[in-house]
Amino acid sequence: MVEWRRGRPEKKEYVHICYTSRLMEGIPFRRLVLNGLKTVVGDRSANWLDHLVIGWRYGDAIGAKLCKSGQVFKKFKFAEWEANYLPECCLCGAGRHAEFLNPAAIRLLPAEGCLHVITADTCITNNGQLQLMLNAGLNHIPMKALDEGVALEEVEQAVDCILASNRCDMELSMEEETEVKKVVMKDAEKRLREYRISHRYITEEPFNSIAVRSEVEWLTKRYLVCLTEKAPHMPTFVCVNFIIKLALARVSGPDFVQLPEQPSAAAARLREAATAIAPIGAMAEKMPLPHLMVVYKAHKEAFRWITNTVGTVLSGVADVCTRVPSKAPVS
Ligand SMILES: [Zn+2]
Ligand SMILES: [Zn+2]
Repeated sequence: MVEWRRGRPEKKEYVHICYTSRLMEGIPFRRLVLNGLKTVVGDRSANWLDHLVIGWRYGDAIGAKLCKSGQVFKKFKFAEWEANYLPECCLCGAGRHAEFLNPAAIRLLPAEGCLHVITADTCITNNGQLQLMLNAGLNHIPMKALDEGVALEEVEQAVDCILASNRCDMELSMEEETEVKKVVMKDAEKRLREYRISHRYITEEPFNSIAVRSEVEWLTKRYLVCLTEKAPHMPTFVCVNFIIKLALARVSGPDFVQLPEQPSAAAARLREAATAIAPIGAMAEKMPLPHLMVVYKAHKEAFRWITNTVGTVLSGVADVCTRVPSKAPVS
């Protein structure tokens, strides 16, 4: 969907267009609409789009589907997991995945003394198409098919939004607006066709194909895909069992206290304390507890732990903290 906001006349206005595929690059929106305006109402329209900012809205990057720390650290059944887990029987390095077993696992959890997979090697998947996308990094947005119908629909919505911006809305009669739109769409259609013909080599990246989806499901069940420090867009794959064990070892340390209460009770208590610092709205009722996230420091072969507060009872407090200068003394 195209979204738009209407501001005061002297203020900037924004139109965000969905980047449905690379076909959208074939459409110079501002120029096309200015041409259409000029054709219908003449030169006086030359500055009608001066206050308008036209931007893009992109689809989800692959990281959104691959990095599942919430699932690994929060939505797992601890008792069941603990009952079934034997470190020496971990399947993370079974078969051809043995080459990704990392001795760092023994150093990090000496009491267990078992190898587990920790690797940045995207050969961990044997799906070549997924591997290519992984090599492009977790911020990669899969390429869509050059679908003229989909693009044309988005172009039409965008043109409607542009023509509904303050100045155009003020100056154009209904008939003129319809006329301008006709001129613009005719031109856009021609450009889309030409762009597709000259970019036939672009094919869709099949991130949503059944084969890739089931590979992602398999991969993320066995390995946590986490960020890599100093190369934040590159994935590190780490055995789920190992990283859970490592997290447990960490929270069993002297810096943490186990709470006897249910998570919902803890959330309610935290929410109350948090509200005193940063009031949160009505949304708060459903907001969950923060969960762990991890970043791999490849050069040190160690993990850095992060508490993910996004959309949790503590997100308001976290917002306040990021606004406090980091050099301020901590009391
Ligand atoms: Zn859209
Ligand atoms: Zn393992």
